[in-house]
Amino acid sequence: MDGSLWTKFRQGCGNLIDGIVTLLYPPSSSCPLCRHEKPVQELLCPACSYLLEMWREEPHCLRCGRPRSGTGDLCRDCLATTPPFRLARAAAPYDGPFRQAVQKLKFQGALLLAEPLGQLMAETVLAEPMYTGVELVVPVPLHRRKLRSRGFNQSSLLGKEIGNRLGLPLEEKVLIKERETKDQIGLTREQRLANLRGAFTVDKPQLVKGKSLLLVDDIFTTGSTVSHSAAALLAAGAEEVSVITWAAGIN
Ligand SMILES: [Zn+2]
Ligand SMILES: [Zn+2]
Repeated sequence: MDGSLWTKFRQGCGNLIDGIVTLLYPPSSSCPLCRHEKPVQELLCPACSYLLEMWREEPHCLRCGRPRSGTGDLCRDCLATTPPFRLARAAAPYDGPFRQAVQKLKFQGALLLAEPLGQLMAETVLAEPMYTGVELVVPVPLHRRKLRSRGFNQSSLLGKEIGNRLGLPLEEKVLIKERETKDQIGLTREQRLANLRGAFTVDKPQLVKGKSLLLVDDIFTTGSTVSHSAAALLAAGAEEVSVITWAAGIN
């Protein structure tokens, strides 16, 4: 066997061995949410995918998208007061790996997480016919001091990803957080509403006038942040506001 034939034979064997190895051990990578192993072609690991499937199959309030009990279409909060937004949905429950993922994005600056989270949020929008007609993506803003200290707005990063995937423009300077507010964690629903009253304003209302908006936030708990944001946008002349968040649940 001459040199080049020998080389080809060796290469052939190498390819064969590679093939067998791939067959026995399919290539894997790690789940962006929990870091466990997952098949390369899947976005999430089997455990996270299963939890998401469970979340999607739970009965949700038709208006705010939070899990609801009982037989009606709406949760108790939405029955008591109609929220200003047309609908809200969350891609995931605010729990387990989904909760950890958004905390890593926000507090540890794991900015690469905006891509898979935004992808799952865009898929949630596409799966819900009630979002039909949204024209412009508007992220819930941070106060400028908070933006300076954190260095990024997680809702803007998610909004960019969603806008790219849905082919929608993003307007991140139109909604402004005018006033710094207390951390919402640990406040009752009434305290949250009072805390946020007048916190959001709209700069350049002509950009939202008559438009159907997709408001983006990271977490939906009582809905007070998105309700105040939606109310400010509607007061500025927006036609309607639909909300998408990464996760929803209790705080
Ligand atoms: Zn996972
Ligand atoms: Zn509801």
